Amino acid sequence: MPFLRRKKDENLPPEVRFVRTERSDTATYHVHSGPDRQAALTFLRRNPVPDELVYTIVETPEGNFGRDLIYLFHEADGSTIELAGRPRAQQPTPSDTRCGWCSFFVVPTTVAINDQWAGTVQVYRTYDELAALVKTGGGFHCRSCSLLQCAVCSGLADATSRAREPRCLACGGGVSVHEKLGAPKRPFAHKPADPEDDQVLTLPADPLGDELWGLAPLPVPWRIDVAAFLARPELPYLWPENDRYTGYIGTGERAQRMLRASWTNVFLHHPNPDVVLQLLRTAPPDGMLSLSSLADLLGSPIAEAHVKEEAARAFWQLPDGGVTYTLNVLLSRGTVPSGYDTGSVHQAVGLLRAACPQGRLGWFDTQLAGPEDD
Ligand SMILES: [Zn+2]
Ligand SMILES: [Zn+2]
Repeated sequence: MPFLRRKKDENLPPEVRFVRTERSDTATYHVHSGPDRQAALTFLRRNPVPDELVYTIVETPEGNFGRDLIYLFHEADGSTIELAGRPRAQQPTPSDTRCGWCSFFVVPTTVAINDQWAGTVQVYRTYDELAALVKTGGGFHCRSCSLLQCAVCSGLADATSRAREPRCLACGGGVSVHEKLGAPKRPFAHKPADPEDDQVLTLPADPLGDELWGLAPLPVPWRIDVAAFLARPELPYLWPENDRYTGYIGTGERAQRMLRASWTNVFLHHPNPDVVLQLLRTAPPDGMLSLSSLADLLGSPIAEAHVKEEAARAFWQLPDGGVTYTLNVLLSRGTVPSGYDTGSVHQAVGLLRAACPQGRLGWFDTQLAGPEDD
């Protein structure tokens, strides 16, 4: 049981004592007992946990407290108490898996395997995305000297130093997010290889979907006259057999407005580029209910460049609020991460800038740089 070595007596206040080590399939728990919350927190602050899936727990009559790679937390509900401090060395120790400065494990950020641009372009990330690495235990590698450097040692936990891109503390070089390839993200309907004219295909459900798009798989024709469809006096339900859904949408004028937004979302996700182009040219999205779908199209890894260019033109027809909202979704500034691959987002931002009316360029740059709180 070599892990018992980690019990460091010199960092053990006399009132906190080691009890036992428990192991599950994936995690290790070093359990201690202490007299109260204060003694537990003092102990946890003094004893770093530099590894992933290792937890130091102190049980007290005032509750149980824990520390992991990232946080001090309440064991009962996992709620966080504070970001755990990381002692930084004077000289770096190179490692393939750990921060050169604090020797904490650097959790690689997963990049979807459908990110076909991974590693080939300078990936566009917002400052908020970088700062979020503090909460995931992530970090960077230096593009010059390869040293790993965690997000905390990079200064991203310090709210007062917002603005600057982190640099390598050893050589001053530029850094890239420490990444690994992982499962593909948000599914997007794939184009059939050789669709026949009257073929019906099924759009997949969207894990982030709702009643206005992606609630369930949806059969749609490969070819459709979008303008004629949307001109119908009564638009059909997307999932007429789903009572909960039809009850939610309801009937009447309000229902028709929601259905128009829904079908706009469907056509924005349609795998036939001709259908998407018809929509963008004849009935471009104008209401808030379709802007997430417009962002989906802009952030899609498989939509054709000429389709995205048309989407960028539709984007600039929107009022300022619509532009900001769509941009926040595209850049994953909302509470729910959008899950677009960074290469596609980078490409989309380039297209939006290219299509941006001259008079709005300065404003657009402010929107790109600015936080989402408006
Ligand atoms: Zn570090
Ligand atoms: Zn370096």
